[in-house]
Amino acid sequence: MVVKVDLTERQAKIIEIVKRNGPISGEDIASQLELSRAALRPHLSVLTMSGHLEARPRVGYYYTGKTENSLVTKALRKIKVKDVKRMPVVVKEDVSVYDAAVSLILEDTGTIYVVGEDGYLAGVVSRKDFLKSCIGGTTTRSMPVGFIMTRMPNIITTEPEEDVLDAAKKIMEYQVDSLPVVREEKNGKLKILGRFTKTSITGLMIELCGEM
Ligand code: ADP
Repeated sequence: MVVKVDLTERQAKIIEIVKRNGPISGEDIASQLELSRAALRPHLSVLTMSGHLEARPRVGYYYTGKTENSLVTKALRKIKVKDVKRMPVVVKEDVSVYDAAVSLILEDTGTIYVVGEDGYLAGVVSRKDFLKSCIGGTTTRSMPVGFIMTRMPNIITTEPEEDVLDAAKKIMEYQVDSLPVVREEKNGKLKILGRFTKTSITGLMIELCGEM
């Protein structure tokens, strides 16, 4: 198993060296990096613990290949966001919080995308945003949804050609349920093309296993 770790520049370099020259001794890695063995040791422990490298006594370090070469990784790198994206649920910035919440329920979605007057992505409203506005006593029938949304430029997005693994990583890293699938127009604004969600990933996982 490869445990997710954020690699430092030095660790990425060590992986490159081992990929090219493995099996290779710690001493040889150290000399290529012009580092002492003592300075190299903690990096090697991280990389062996994370599963990127393996160490064989008297043979040396070698690259497990589990990160980029595993079957699952390969499959997920081939599938693009455009292959699994679904229809977005979009409202205008000036609709009321109440009406936006009704859309959320009727369209059976967890996140609503909000567009400005120009029709481009302006914000995102999640279930929790609606709950917060209720708890906060918002007058939901009169307050525009624009008041409670997370606003551009703080929206994490994906694009049709991004592979699903990178998009899934964004969902985990930013702890959100969905990413608007967008295309950047010449004016720098984002046109909404779809949504990529935790459900997209779950569905894909089941499909890849040949179930359903
Ligand atoms: P929930 O609120 O149901 O837990 P999320 O985890 O998706 O759903 O949302 C948490 C917060 O992150 C909300 O305030 C929401 O507006 C915001 N958010 C949701 N999706 C995105 C996104 N793609 N980019 C930036 N912020 C987002």
